Amino acid sequence: MVNSNVLNEDPIHISGISAFQDNYIWLLANNKQAVVVDPGQAEPVARVLAERELELSAILITHHHYDHTGGVKDLLKQWPNAKIYGPSAEPLPASSAMGVSDGDTVLVPELGLEFSVLSVPGHTLGHIAFYEPTGIANQPLLFCGDTLFSGGCGRLFEGTPEQMHQSLTRLAALPDATLVYCTHEYTQSNLAFCHSVEPNNAELKKHLQKIAKLRQQGVPSLPSSIGLEKAINVFLRPHVAGVKARLQAHTGLELDEDIKVFAALRRWKDVF
Ligand SMILES: [Zn+2]
Repeated sequence: MVNSNVLNEDPIHISGISAFQDNYIWLLANNKQAVVVDPGQAEPVARVLAERELELSAILITHHHYDHTGGVKDLLKQWPNAKIYGPSAEPLPASSAMGVSDGDTVLVPELGLEFSVLSVPGHTLGHIAFYEPTGIANQPLLFCGDTLFSGGCGRLFEGTPEQMHQSLTRLAALPDATLVYCTHEYTQSNLAFCHSVEPNNAELKKHLQKIAKLRQQGVPSLPSSIGLEKAINVFLRPHVAGVKARLQAHTGLELDEDIKVFAALRRWKDVF
């Protein structure tokens, strides 16, 4: 008898480990092995690994900022065999780290995971995302660092509005069911901004209320999904007539292209 559904016997769970003020370090693990994404701090990760008696197989890094990489060196001291993958176009936090770029595949055989690397510049120039199309229970997984947030997008520290708009358009084209694991708990303030841009978006209003309740109970607002973000996140909606009209009224400018609406949204959010 062939048992092809190994994952069901040893299912993968994803949990968010809190770090710094509002970062999540995502941990994917079965009963034995774990992968972490963007470990800005080592200590909270090491604690969870010890509690759950897990071995660290791999570390995925989306971009070079310290709050995404600061824990790598110390985790490596404890787990010298952990493989590290990060953007080939950016400085990596350890000499053993492997640089990957758009179109590459990152295999984590210990967990049966196969990530596609997507180049998503904007927040930083070499920023990458990790996409697992098979995912868990037919829901693909996306680890997108500081590119797409629930209700928002990353600040443009290195890239241009054009680059970020293109990166987000690419992520928005992933299947609606894709679970979106961002690195920061910015959802409530992001949704407040979305609401001020689209006060009549009924789905956004409903989601705002749901997230307010969750956050009151200290529950993470993540993961989100691509389908949800397309409905509520104004940064994925510059093509929507109401968003464009609101931005034209706000800026007093004729915004005749989606990219101009997007750039105006990003500038407004920076001072919101
Ligand atoms: Zn960052």
